[in-house]
Amino acid sequence: MKVVLDHVTKAFPNRNKKLKQDVIAVSDFTYEIPDGSLIGLLGPSGCGKSTTLNLISGLLTPTSGRILFGDEDVTDFSPEHRGIGLVFQNYALYPHMTVAENIMFPLGNLRGKDKMSRAEMRRKAEEIAALVQIEAYMDRKPSELSGGQQQRVAIARALVKMPRVLLLDEPLSNLDARLRLQTREEIHRIQRQTGITTIFVTHDQEEAMSISDAIVVMRDGVVQQIGAPQQVYNDPCNLFVAKFLGTPPINVFDGSVSDGALYLGEDRVLDVPCVPDGTYYVGIRPEGFEIRADGPMHAALSAIEVMGRDVSVVAAHPACTTDTLRAIIDADETVGLHANEIRFSLKPSKVCLFDRRTEIRVRTDK
Ligand code: ADP
Ligand code: MG
Repeated sequence: MKVVLDHVTKAFPNRNKKLKQDVIAVSDFTYEIPDGSLIGLLGPSGCGKSTTLNLISGLLTPTSGRILFGDEDVTDFSPEHRGIGLVFQNYALYPHMTVAENIMFPLGNLRGKDKMSRAEMRRKAEEIAALVQIEAYMDRKPSELSGGQQQRVAIARALVKMPRVLLLDEPLSNLDARLRLQTREEIHRIQRQTGITTIFVTHDQEEAMSISDAIVVMRDGVVQQIGAPQQVYNDPCNLFVAKFLGTPPINVFDGSVSDGALYLGEDRVLDVPCVPDGTYYVGIRPEGFEIRADGPMHAALSAIEVMGRDVSVVAAHPACTTDTLRAIIDADETVGLHANEIRFSLKPSKVCLFDRRTEIRVRTDK
């Protein structure tokens, strides 16, 4: 089922009563989510992710704009009539019911021709439990399950009626690091197997990047950029998006362009023939540095951190906006590296320029 947000805006009265101005939690959000895709809604806390999800679920009504499922305008539909499955951060399972009863619960509300016998409900619950791989725990109570297993039950319950759209709000936040990794892969697999259009909210960029067909990056209620994870990472539209995506994060420098050359402090690091003279923020991804004895960028080596296959080189540069920059380098390239000074050349595709006032990307490749 394709999901269309058509100029959706949600304003709340200000919680601070002294302030008359509304809070615009979501501002003019327009996006056509393709049928069968997994979309990651991403941004820092308070940027409007949950509000967006709740507008799609029908728990909230937009102040203006429309929401469509397929060609059907569902803007005025209650959540029960939209055919959605919802999963929240806290599993919200019924503690006194078994796993099977929890999963079957939504089926008990079916009426008329959809009404199911108890045996049918049990069969359906078993089918879904197998999909999320908790079929071995059907007779346990939620308190007898791990956090990861409880979250699978919550996902099973959301799926049991085969919703048109599956909505997940920070579903992994209560899990420890390893379970988070495992459960996000599970969500990916379940989404692929069912083909249900899924919208997944997270503040964790890595989580969104790893499983989404497309990510939507939001800030202060405003969509900043939508695209395939790698495309947004490689081609951020502004400094906020560039800084929000990637671990280790992009390194930011104060740079200047003069006669088609980009300078970081004294170092003439790159030719940028299409960029007008002026000062810029310069973002360089950690993988954008190459160690070269005759490289144009001079930095002071502070530390080398080995992280398995790759090595993280920590260095200082006078034009860097932070104390140190971080470069990810192939392990063999750093053999015998111990001099105080280190020289880099830069991969042009890993260098982004931004306007200093608007922080919007300035293209170097016109
Ligand atoms: P996120 O899920 O990205 O952390 P939310 O969508 O929950 O963000 O909130 C977005 C903004 O809207 C925040 O500034 C929040 O304080 C505000 N907000 C959310 N719900 C309400 C509400 N019911 N009343 C007033 N303000 C709200
Ligand atoms: Mg939220």
